[in-house]
Amino acid sequence: MNSPDALILLIEDDLQTRRFLKSNLTLNGWACTEAKNAQSGLESLRQQFPDMVILDLGLPDMNGIEVITHIRQYSEIPILILSARGLEVDKIAALEAGADDYLTKPFSNGELNARLLALLRRARRSGTLHDVFVSGELTVNLAQRRVSLANQEVHLTPIEYNLLAQLVRHAGLVLTHRHLLKTVWGAEHIQDSHYLRIYMGQLRHKLELDPARPKYLLTEVGVGYRLAVNESPTALNDLPKLA
Ligand code: CA
Repeated sequence: MNSPDALILLIEDDLQTRRFLKSNLTLNGWACTEAKNAQSGLESLRQQFPDMVILDLGLPDMNGIEVITHIRQYSEIPILILSARGLEVDKIAALEAGADDYLTKPFSNGELNARLLALLRRARRSGTLHDVFVSGELTVNLAQRRVSLANQEVHLTPIEYNLLAQLVRHAGLVLTHRHLLKTVWGAEHIQDSHYLRIYMGQLRHKLELDPARPKYLLTEVGVGYRLAVNESPTALNDLPKLA
């Protein structure tokens, strides 16, 4: 997707960050409209019909979580939040209020573009289930519930599969521990984070060449997990032996 053909609304009060973002967005072919506070951002949202929102959580006139809650009352537009490093609690609160993903400052142009493309892809296919996910050597066929690595079928337990399927449905985006526990194990298990650690470990053993340095099933420290998209294929003989 070289020309994303989408309008991004950038809500950020810091002039320097706004300039950095705008020049990178433009360079990558995105159209961009700017707002320097929540009030004018919400106005632009209603008047300019952007395709996505990039929202700084630290705005002068409104708390970022309030902005998200406000937008979600009338719009399903993808929201990418920008947050300062170490504020995991804020990221989780923003995701739970309805944001789709986040970037931690400072971030690279490449990361920014990858996140936006993942959001746009998901938004454009929403309503139609994307049946087959491919990243590097990993293929997940959701319609057939089949998983393969370098064309060899991988046998997963039902829970391992359900966990992977959740990540596939949001490929490239972060999913919180709470979201995964709730959707895979049920609302009564949202505190049982050890389930998630154990099953993620099992999945990595089955799907990763080096489970300690995963390239598909990525950890977002303190927040959750993310399935990497567009991993480049590895040589066949580098892959782990499959049972
Ligand atoms: Ca700010």
